[in-house]
Amino acid sequence: MNEHQTIDLRSPWVISIHELVRRPGELKEFHRDIPAPAQVRVEMIGVREGSPITVDVRLESVSEGVLATGTVGAELIGECARCLGEVRETRDFELQELFYYPGHDGEEDALFVVDNNIDLEQPMRDAIILELPFTPLCRADCLGLCPVCGFNLNEDPGHNHGEQIDPRWADLQAFRTQDAIPGE
Ligand SMILES: [Zn+2]
Ligand SMILES: [Zn+2]
Repeated sequence: MNEHQTIDLRSPWVISIHELVRRPGELKEFHRDIPAPAQVRVEMIGVREGSPITVDVRLESVSEGVLATGTVGAELIGECARCLGEVRETRDFELQELFYYPGHDGEEDALFVVDNNIDLEQPMRDAIILELPFTPLCRADCLGLCPVCGFNLNEDPGHNHGEQIDPRWADLQAFRTQDAIPGE
């Protein structure tokens, strides 16, 4: 990224900050629900494309540019790494980004004010994606699946297969079950 970066004005993540430009000390509060773009996720959990991300930031004019500080909140949907059940959680993520005025010599990944606009999409992605768990869990003490049959152990923690049944007795047991049909 450099100061010649362009901004797509059609993006809902682009915000006009003309009233803040070159006016250190000026503040603007920005609150809006913006649809999630694609790929705000890691392998097993993320934000569904198009679902709302609640942006709640304070934009502050400082001498080098415009500082955005606040939170982005979203519903995360994923798969439990132990039981493969659904994980669903709404949470807020901290966001802080300084958008520099053109002419700033900064880090490779510095973001800039472009034609009195800033683009919050990349800071939003960084805020959320870097905090997503690689092994999401439906609950901290999820019991996972039975290694023998795949049964979800959260449904019955006492589940077990007891002694393996001797194949010589299996036929007899089947016979007894048949014998026990109600009404006979
Ligand atoms: Zn689970
Ligand atoms: Zn089992």
